[in-house]
Amino acid sequence: MTPSIDKKEFKAGKIILKQGDEDANNAYIIESGLVEILIEKENNLVQRLGTRGPGTIIGEMALVDNKPRTATIKAVEDSILLEITKSDFERRLENSDPVIQMITKVILARYRDMIARAQIFGNSNTIPTPEELEKGLVENTNAVENIKTSNELKFALDNDDLELHYQPIIDLKTKDIKGFEALIRWNHPEKGYISPEIFIPIAEDSGLIVEISRWVVLKACQTLANVKSEFNNTDMFVSVNFSASDFSDPNFLSYISHALNDTGLNAKDLHLEITERLLMSHPGNARDTLEKCRNKGMVVSIDDFGTGYSSLSYLHYFPIDILKIDRSFINNMTEDKGALELVKSIISLSHNMEMKVIAEGIETEEQSSLLEGINCDQAQGYLYAKPMAEEALITLIHEKT
Ligand code: C2E
Ligand code: CA
Ligand code: CA
Repeated sequence: MTPSIDKKEFKAGKIILKQGDEDANNAYIIESGLVEILIEKENNLVQRLGTRGPGTIIGEMALVDNKPRTATIKAVEDSILLEITKSDFERRLENSDPVIQMITKVILARYRDMIARAQIFGNSNTIPTPEELEKGLVENTNAVENIKTSNELKFALDNDDLELHYQPIIDLKTKDIKGFEALIRWNHPEKGYISPEIFIPIAEDSGLIVEISRWVVLKACQTLANVKSEFNNTDMFVSVNFSASDFSDPNFLSYISHALNDTGLNAKDLHLEITERLLMSHPGNARDTLEKCRNKGMVVSIDDFGTGYSSLSYLHYFPIDILKIDRSFINNMTEDKGALELVKSIISLSHNMEMKVIAEGIETEEQSSLLEGINCDQAQGYLYAKPMAEEALITLIHEKT
């Protein structure tokens, strides 16, 4: 499931799409340059419908309804186009809400009908041209920016420009480091540091997340193996974040097993972090995959617990070992009695269900001792350590032991 968004260059005069082509298998977003839309009529007459410039999309209609191309598109200037392949488009459509899928198809049918009527009755100057309409739409949805980012991210992944940092997770009583969470880092050559909160959702939309997760798992396992050999087989764990698309990847389990085998780790050394939102959006799929991982011995951790507005009954439905209490509750706990009560309830609920609790985002001593006092098991936050590169992590563990 590799995303197939590529940059293509067309010199001025080159035909990009040909009217009548039946197996249309791509569309393009224009990054730079100018193209013209031509309709070939009877008797070799060619009508020029207009031009399209940066930020507009061409060739998309045939992707949705599989009909032959209705126009020829030719480069007027040298143009750079971002290609959206049919398989990429279909995957995006399949992953979208069924109502959105239906509306997309209905709107397209009406649009084709509108164009056919306009060709019969002539165009009115008072309604926006399709070009004006589309430009606004594409700009509003940030599609161009997201596709560019996704391309650059793919490049970074292929060129080993992504990094993995690790944030220690400590035992609240002893303050020993028990394990660490792997957090991805991207230093863009021009834009500088880009937060995973920005690029992970883009990678999820483009499908690239599947390849990223594969890289993260292997890298995280290698780091844990290095730590274990440096410190003579400690029982530390590494925790890795996963997204919804990872659970639809048919190779998910096999690449994880390979990563564990290749690095000589045990399944219990790997914690899978899944957000409460992911569980609620794909309950059947998630349960199935998690059961399999759990049966192999991996540990299942629910991330951002408390933010998913879900019913507590799902805690029984899924195989869960650990709840990670979201930072927002920890932040408010010292001022807001309600937040504190909630944290206490989550801790006792978890212990009653034989789950462990990790508190996230601890920044002050006050929060730390409060959590220790109410029997929270483990914690993670800037107070103890920020996410850091492997070498810094090893140095820190040396200092603590
Ligand atoms: P998350 O899984 O909830 O990760 C914890 C985030 O809280 C990290 O942000 C971490 O740097 C930050 N953090 C930790 N302690 C503190 C603290 O004391 N105070 C504050 N203010 N923040 C703290 P980061 O690294 O920017 O990651 C953001 C999110 O991006 C993660 O949230 C996770 O959802 C996602 N993410 C990061 N790496 C990966 C990855 O490899 N794969 C996937 N699928 N998602 C990832
Ligand atoms: Ca996490
Ligand atoms: Ca979290």
